[in-house]
Amino acid sequence: MLGTLAKKLRMFGFDCKYESAIDDDSLVLIAKKQDRIVVTKDLKLVINCLQHDIKTIKIQNNTDKEQLIEIAHQINYNKFQLTYSRCSLCNGLLEEIAKNTILGKIPQRILESKEKFWKCKECNHVYWMGTHISNIEKFVTDLNGNI
Ligand SMILES: [Zn+2]
Repeated sequence: MLGTLAKKLRMFGFDCKYESAIDDDSLVLIAKKQDRIVVTKDLKLVINCLQHDIKTIKIQNNTDKEQLIEIAHQINYNKFQLTYSRCSLCNGLLEEIAKNTILGKIPQRILESKEKFWKCKECNHVYWMGTHISNIEKFVTDLNGNI
């Protein structure tokens, strides 16, 4: 299961579909049709993809940090950056929204203390620069230092 990895990749702006319950044939069809790179730990799926001329990234490690390093090495990527462009929950695109459009939808103390807000165009989830962002930024700095 690479759900945590998918969430992280979306935070870095990658268009990243994630399906936890999908059979290999359907996955191969979608990847082919949408010209996607399949990221998986499953060697059988890697072989299946190669037979259908679909690019793959084979993951071996278990932590999201190690997995991102593996991906970076395989696609010659040397720096991950938070983009605030994609919803980590559903992969939808984010748009910046005005405070007055979300009155009553998020806690008042957040509305009063934050200036910038984003909303997912797909699932309507509202994002802001919460305290967790500094933890994520530390993660990214550490990650980039290990690529
Ligand atoms: Zn969303």
